[in-house]
Amino acid sequence: MNGVQVPYTDFAKMHDPLRGELDAAWKRVMDQEWFIGGAEDQAFEEEFAALCGAKFCVGVGNGLDALRLILLAAGVQEGDEVLVPANTFIASALAISYVGARPVLVDPDQETALITPQEAEKHITEKTKAIMPVHLYGRMAEMEGFADLAARHHLLLVEDAAQAHGALRQGKGPAAWGLAAGYSFYPGKNLGALGDAGAVITNDPELARRVRALSNYGSEVKYHHEWAGVNSRLDEVQAALLRVKLPHLPAWTAERRRIAAAYEAGIQNPKIRLLRQAEGNVYHVFPVFTQERDALQKHLEQAGIHCLIHYPIPVHLQQAYADLGYRRGDFPVAEELAETELSLPLYPGMTEEQIQHVIQQVNSF
Ligand SMILES: *Cc1c(COP(=O)(O)O)cnc(C)c1O
Repeated sequence: MNGVQVPYTDFAKMHDPLRGELDAAWKRVMDQEWFIGGAEDQAFEEEFAALCGAKFCVGVGNGLDALRLILLAAGVQEGDEVLVPANTFIASALAISYVGARPVLVDPDQETALITPQEAEKHITEKTKAIMPVHLYGRMAEMEGFADLAARHHLLLVEDAAQAHGALRQGKGPAAWGLAAGYSFYPGKNLGALGDAGAVITNDPELARRVRALSNYGSEVKYHHEWAGVNSRLDEVQAALLRVKLPHLPAWTAERRRIAAAYEAGIQNPKIRLLRQAEGNVYHVFPVFTQERDALQKHLEQAGIHCLIHYPIPVHLQQAYADLGYRRGDFPVAEELAETELSLPLYPGMTEEQIQHVIQQVNSF
């Protein structure tokens, strides 16, 4: 019996070495007695924009709001259609629904789990207003192709970068290609807060200004409201904690890549398929695919290895979206991925023994 335990993720590995700094950050906010929209928020926005290689960052309450505020600021509204993958976390689609527009789903490519410009183009109608590629699992979508598609059809290009902190394609990160990218700092993301948080990254000063106002009741001058906005701000405590973690993101990403490289080299099992390798991948999730997914999950669970499924139900089969009128069979690739995907543990601080245990157990399935 091998007694090695492998949790899906292990926050302590990241947080324990930073415990003193995290405690100090929280105390600093207590002492400052300024809890919303202060110095920590501003400093984090500057630091995260720099990491993303972009001009503007606006901190918001969470990743869903980051996406919804971009669409709201860009004037996407009822009657509009927005293209989005069928195989994403439901928040991508919900951001579109929230502004009153219709999510128009696109089936992904089987080898990358990402939508392609070619497939997206088939769904463009006279109502299409925007395209929202999702950089799923930390893999950048084919952004040069999407930028070209958006330009040819006069569409807005908005990226869901909730799983892609620090990801690059042709040396450029999300938001270099279109209007803006939405990020999440949900605790489990590659850069996670100790609670909910999110950000909009853009190079467009007008979009940044509008998102900031919309996130703060549509107001730029206190008690003067230019737009009917919402309340979705990044609070000082989360900003201060994120500032402690942010400088470590490049090293954590390098570690994720090192573990992923070990998996890619070591996993050899004819029953198990990996995605095609992608440049600039930050490996938020390491998915494997097999027709016997539930049996594989059980096999790994019995070996002390805890896996997750991203995601078991595609957007078009969610009850919340029954009114879109889609049916089983409409997005065969998204459905197959949902039935066959299993996410292996991959996190900074995994030991060599844990990594080898995962590889061995996957191979012995
Ligand atoms: C996490 C996530 C979101 C939503 O972020 P929250 O901060 O949880 O609101 C949106 N899209 C994708 C792809 C995500 O993984």
